[in-house]
Amino acid sequence: MAQIIDGKAVSASVKAEVAAQAAQLKEEKGLEVGLAVVIVGNDPASRVYVNNKKKACEAVGFKSFEYALPEETTQEELLALVEKLNKDKSVNGILVQLPVPRHIDEKAIINAISPDKDVDAFHPVNVGKIMIGEYSFLPCTPAGVMRLIESTGVDITGKQCVVIGRSNIVGKPQAMLLLQKNGTVTICHSKTKNLKEICLGADILVVAIGRAKFVTGDMIKEGAVVIDVGMDRDENGKLCGDVDFESAEKVAGYITPVPGGVGPMTIAMLMKNTLTAAMQQNGLM
Ligand code: NAP
Repeated sequence: MAQIIDGKAVSASVKAEVAAQAAQLKEEKGLEVGLAVVIVGNDPASRVYVNNKKKACEAVGFKSFEYALPEETTQEELLALVEKLNKDKSVNGILVQLPVPRHIDEKAIINAISPDKDVDAFHPVNVGKIMIGEYSFLPCTPAGVMRLIESTGVDITGKQCVVIGRSNIVGKPQAMLLLQKNGTVTICHSKTKNLKEICLGADILVVAIGRAKFVTGDMIKEGAVVIDVGMDRDENGKLCGDVDFESAEKVAGYITPVPGGVGPMTIAMLMKNTLTAAMQQNGLM
């Protein structure tokens, strides 16, 4: 039976580290870390994410600035707000909650955020820095996954690492981070042939596809580390992951649950990036 990787506990320790450093910054330098979160429209899931980010800011002692804009906001208006936040010294990090409404070009918005304040690490400059291993910010979800793997004590060096999913926000950067830790990395996607066979060779398997319970126990190598990034709904509408937990936990060595695995890490790493941004902007790093 697999050992469960407790994302809530690991994320709590990351947030505690961040809170301690933020308190020290305030006391010694009089600096208060600030994160601006922009949401456009009324998507209920986005609303929940934004509220969670606000709560996390409060918990670690950051100031949060929320901009809730109506659905009909134009691209020009949103760009003007981003530009204003880029210049605002009390704002260290800027996050525009995705997806934005269809009439707004997501890429144009991402590109407008100053790379120094891009705490999601979606700007092409930050993406490029990740490729060459000289990054300031890591994208939050893949960075959270790395912390979870680290928490198992399993050394990535020389391991067969398989990432299923090649999105810009999870799969691709995930593969780069595993490579930087000396993993031998295979990236799989919807056109991959013999997926099961590839998965069976994985010492570390990261699944980010968005399909409920897709990866089953018979696709997992005995003792593997299995990280489930998926946030899906099962046939009863209950939150579940991309991995069929019940069959997978019988084979894996370590496994993340959904909920309580990768999810809490994403916000914790966002707080860490915002703190890093504040320190860099003030010449402290
Ligand atoms: P995405 O942009 O939709 O990408 C999905 C990837 O999975 C694509 O690369 C796709 O391949 C691949 N894929 C789809 N079906 C597949 C199949 N049958 N076999 C192999 N590969 C397949 O999704 P995402 O944004 O990366 O998110 C993935 C999941 O993670 C979602 O459930 C999302 O909700 C969750 N997520 C969670 C967090 C968190 O904080 N916990 C953060 C971000 C995302 P192609 O490229 O060939 O289409």
